[in-house]
Amino acid sequence: MTTTSTRIAIIGAGHSGLCMGMQLKRAGIHDFVILEKSATLGGTWRDNTYPGASCDAPSFLYSFSFAQKTDWSRRFAWQAELLGYSVECAVKHGLLPHLRFHAEVSAARFDEARNLWRVELAGGDVVEAHFLVTGMGQLHHPATPAIPGREDFRGEQFHSARWDHSVDLATKRVAVIGNAASAVQFVPQIAPLASQLTIFQRSANWLLPRKDRLYSPRLQRRMTRWPWLAKLRHDAQWFFFGELQLTPLMKQVRFVQWFATRKALAHLRRQVRDPALRARLVPDFPIGAKRVLFNDDYYPTLNRDNVRLVTEGVERIERDGVRTKSGELVEADVIVYATGFHATDFLAPLAITGAGGRKLSEEWKGGAHAYLGVAVSGFPNLFMLYGPNTNLGHNSILVMIEAQVGYVIDAIRQLDARGLKRLDVRRPVMDEYNAWLKRDLAKSVWAADKQSWYKLADGTITNNWPHSTMRYRRLLRAADLGVYETV
Ligand SMILES: Cc1cc2nc3c(=O)[nH]c(=O)nc-3n(C[C@H](O)[C@H](O)[C@H](O)COP(=O)(O)OP(=O)(O)OC[C@H]3O[C@@H](n4cnc5c(N)ncnc54)[C@H](O)[C@@H]3O)c2cc1C
Repeated sequence: MTTTSTRIAIIGAGHSGLCMGMQLKRAGIHDFVILEKSATLGGTWRDNTYPGASCDAPSFLYSFSFAQKTDWSRRFAWQAELLGYSVECAVKHGLLPHLRFHAEVSAARFDEARNLWRVELAGGDVVEAHFLVTGMGQLHHPATPAIPGREDFRGEQFHSARWDHSVDLATKRVAVIGNAASAVQFVPQIAPLASQLTIFQRSANWLLPRKDRLYSPRLQRRMTRWPWLAKLRHDAQWFFFGELQLTPLMKQVRFVQWFATRKALAHLRRQVRDPALRARLVPDFPIGAKRVLFNDDYYPTLNRDNVRLVTEGVERIERDGVRTKSGELVEADVIVYATGFHATDFLAPLAITGAGGRKLSEEWKGGAHAYLGVAVSGFPNLFMLYGPNTNLGHNSILVMIEAQVGYVIDAIRQLDARGLKRLDVRRPVMDEYNAWLKRDLAKSVWAADKQSWYKLADGTITNNWPHSTMRYRRLLRAADLGVYETV
C-alpha cells in the first residue's frame, strides 16, 4: 500500500480525462495523474467494440477543436478510428507518463485540515491531490434488465457494450433485446450472418438519414496540408448540424419539429416495404424526446427474410429462448442485450465524502445535480466533467467537455493567483442554477416523453442540458470565484 501526492488527480482516461490532461499540458501544468481502472485508455471507444460501432456526431465535430484530426476516413468514424484518435491525442500531448492504469478509484475523502483529497484505489493505494477531477462518463456501466429466467438460458448472452467476440454468430438464431442507438448500428452488421435475427422492440425510435460517406484521399491531403480547413469543418458541423438543426428540435420549435418528423417518416416509407411493419416503427413520442438516430441501414435490414421485429414485450427468458408477453417462445442460441447504461447513476459506485463528512450519495438521493454540471456544494476542490445535466441529444459531447475543462483550469489558475487553497460553490447559487435548469428542462422536448435514459423514474431530467452549446460555452467561459466560498 503506497501513498503518492499530486496536484490534480483525474479519474478516467476517456475523452473527458484525456481532454483535461491535454489542456493542463497546454497550460503548462504538469503535476497531475490520470487514474484509469482499465488496462488501456479510450473509455467509450475502448469498451464499445460491437460490429458497426461508430459515432453519431460527424467525425470532425466529434474531435477536439484544439487537436483536430485532419484525415478522418469518413463522415461518421468507426470505433477503431475513434479509439486511434484518442491514443494519438494522448501520445502527441505527452500524456503517457501521467496515465496510471489498473487504478480503479473506490473512494475519495476530502481532508479539511489539509485541503486535499485522499483518493483510494481498489488495491489499497492512496493518491493525495489538491484537486479531484472526475471524467467517468455517463455511459460507462452497461444496464442489463432484470428479466426473469436469464440464468436459465442455455446459449450465450452478453451486453452490446461488452461484445463477446468469441461468440460466432454465423448460422445462429440471435435475439436482440433493445433497438436504440447501438442496436441500429450492429443489427445490419450481424443480420447477414445469423440464420434468424429477432429484435425485441419496447418503443420505436425516430431515424433520420445518416448520409455517411468516405472522405477522399484528396480531401484528406488538403485538410492535412491546411489544418485550418479541418477546424473550419469542425466549426461548420458544430453550427449547422448541432446548433442550427438539432437545438431547435430539442427546444420544440414547431416548424423544425414538423419538418424533422416529415423527413423521418419519409425515410421510413422509402426504406420499409411492408405497411404493417412500418406502422410498428412509428414512435409514439415527439421527435427528439429520445436520442434521434442517424441511420441508413437499419430499416432496410428489417426487410430481410431472416429478420423479425417483435413488439409484444418480453415476459421472461427460458432455457431455449425468449418468451413474449403474448406467450410465444422465440427460440435463440444467442441473446444480445442492447439495453443501454446506468446513465443516471453518475459517479456511483464511488464513495465520495466531502466537507463535514457529507456523502455525495446522500446529496444526490433525489437525483444528481451540480452547478454548471461541474461543482457540487459541500465538495470543495472537486470538479466533474460530463457531469449532471451536461449530456446532449443535439450536439457533440466534446463541445461540452472542452468548455468544462477550460472552466476548471481557469478556476485553478485564479485560485493560485490569489494564493487560495480551496473553493466550494455556494449552496444558494447551486440551488438557484438548478431551479432555472428545471424550469427550462420542463419546456424541452425531453419532458414530452414518459421514459428515457435522460431521466429518473419520477421524471426528473438529470442528464441533459436544455439549451444550445453556445449558451453553455458562454456560461463557462470564465470561472467567477464570487460564486464560491474560498479559503
Ligand atoms: C456507443 C456509444 C456511442 C456514442 N456516440 C456518441 C456520439 O456520436 N457523439 C457524442 O457526442 N457522444 C457519443 N457518446 C457518448 C460518449 O460517452 C461521450 O461522447 C464521451 O466519449 C464520454 O467520454 P468520458 O471520458 O466522459 O466517458 P467514458 O468514455 O465513459 O470514459 C470514462 C472512463 O473512466 C474510467 N472509469 C470509470 N470509473 C472509474 C473508476 N472508478 N476508477 C478509474 N477509472 C474509472 C472508465 O474505465 C473509462 O475509461 C456515445 C456513447 C456510446 C456508449
